[in-house]
Amino acid sequence: LVRIMELTKHFGDRLILDRVSLDVEAKQRLVLIGPSGSGKTTLLRCINHLEKPTSGHVFIDGRLCWRKAPGEPHIDLPDAEIARQRREIGMVFQRFNLFPHMTALQNVMCGPLKVLKRPRNEAHDLAMALLEKVGMAEHRDAYPERLSGGQQQRVAISRALAMQPKLMLFDEATSALDPELVGEVLGVMRKLAEDGMTMIIVTHEMHFAASIADRVIVMDAGRIIDEGSPIEILKSPKHPRTAAFLSRML
Ligand code: ATP
Repeated sequence: LVRIMELTKHFGDRLILDRVSLDVEAKQRLVLIGPSGSGKTTLLRCINHLEKPTSGHVFIDGRLCWRKAPGEPHIDLPDAEIARQRREIGMVFQRFNLFPHMTALQNVMCGPLKVLKRPRNEAHDLAMALLEKVGMAEHRDAYPERLSGGQQQRVAISRALAMQPKLMLFDEATSALDPELVGEVLGVMRKLAEDGMTMIIVTHEMHFAASIADRVIVMDAGRIIDEGSPIEILKSPKHPRTAAFLSRML
């Protein structure tokens, strides 16, 4: 579903992603781990067109998202195609970025109504089903400020799902939460995985990573330094920097 080839990203002179290549099959759960500043967020943002890579190729579902060989001019995709591709990728951020002036239900209905142009009753029923799925149906009329961080994040996940994405990206979705609220969000992510959603997850929750991932990729200074099943990575990391990172995290 996702193919990334030799992706490189600079911010000014700084090399942030250094020839990163990876594939994610449909229904796979890929977990990205690595020290702060290793480029995990930037990689997700390049997949979702929130950043422009410096060079490399990105394909989503066989469709070209980004292609530029070093030294060659880049051909921009039309804005409409970028918008279409972004609709197919749901992203959940560390900060729950709900619209503050809308209720939980309105937040979830907004995309289907405004972007997908679904009829109101259809958008309503879809949003209610999704709020139900994340255990938030009873809070449908609450505004974000009245919800806990965990509840807001569950609404944010429903809102992303309402666009019926092919792929979900999670960028440290639980790291801004109080510890007692982390479990409810991880539970929702686990349920999504069981339903067969393709997911790329950046997390510092190692035990969760081990339990949900098909494959773990370890990034360090913009490169993939280790890759394998959770057991391989956690029990017998190949790279000494993986071992050092894990010993700080576990
Ligand atoms: P964390 O776990 O702390 O979120 P990360 O692995 O996700 O880290 P990134 O957020 O991708 O890392 O950042 C990689 C590097 O890129 C960092 O050194 C960061 O300062 C730099 N960086 C990120 N965004 C920008 C930007 N817009 N302009 C300049 N530098 C940036």
